Amino acid sequence: VTEPAADAGQEALGPGREFDVIRALLARWSGVARGVGDDGAVLDIPAGSRLVASIDTSVEGVHFRRDWLTVHEIGYRSTASALSDLAAMAARPLGILLALSIPADALDDAPALGDGVGQAARDAGCAIVGGDTTRGDRLALTVAVLGHASAPVRRSGARPGDRVYVTGRLGAAAAAVAALARGETPPAALRERFAHPVPRIAEAQWLAAHGVSAMIDISDGLVSELRHLAAASGVAITVELEQVPVAGDVRPAAAAVSGEEYELLVTSPRELDAASFFRVFALPLTDIGRVGDGAGGVVTTTHQGERVDPGAGYDHFSP
Ligand SMILES: [Mg+2]
Repeated sequence: VTEPAADAGQEALGPGREFDVIRALLARWSGVARGVGDDGAVLDIPAGSRLVASIDTSVEGVHFRRDWLTVHEIGYRSTASALSDLAAMAARPLGILLALSIPADALDDAPALGDGVGQAARDAGCAIVGGDTTRGDRLALTVAVLGHASAPVRRSGARPGDRVYVTGRLGAAAAAVAALARGETPPAALRERFAHPVPRIAEAQWLAAHGVSAMIDISDGLVSELRHLAAASGVAITVELEQVPVAGDVRPAAAAVSGEEYELLVTSPRELDAASFFRVFALPLTDIGRVGDGAGGVVTTTHQGERVDPGAGYDHFSP
């Protein structure tokens, strides 16, 4: 949010009640909004580090529904998912820029939405450094994230012989969405994982410091991300579904195609100390497979040694 009187607000939304949205957001973000009030944010990058940038759009009816999530949760998730892309690069967050498109019937929700964005930013120790607000026919948030990394970890570094690890437990997000789609209330623990995914920023620093060769975050589902990583690295990957850590009683095959998990998937040339990782983060780090030298991008899933197809990859639900 730049200076409220500038293009952040008045022209786009007009004076009066709509302009109050900008003021309300800035008031909610006291302490976390930093460097606003000029035409652009000015950020310092530590010497020797590189700038890492990513942008994510969340649109009502495509990425979220207001009858499934509170606006606070919508603000939180949109920001957390954008920050997860910084984690995937082993970057430390520098700042968030938010572009908010807001329909007339959601103007009253703007403070709660802003609180959700603010919570995700605070949790990640990241400032909100700029933004823009406009009227729209549906709620949409575009979150740009800026970070820095002295040694960004890419998708392309996996090599034959590497082990494949995943953080956390998978499957809660898809299970929660499936329950909501059936008109049911998801179990509280699954719904919480869906509503409040945690960008694994500190965990990514640990993994990078322990020499992982490639990293990606799980937004489209484990199998789908494995394909991205295997293609970028020019390797084949085999994953043992019975090793995949699941949330609740989710089946491993369902967990393997559950999207919007925002856990980290890494490859490592050495065995990683999962017990030590768990002591630091209270989060499992699980060896689920191996990198092979087959055709690049090919991912094989097995269960008890038998090849199985965990099903189609994840797509955003149809509104
Ligand atoms: Mg990603």
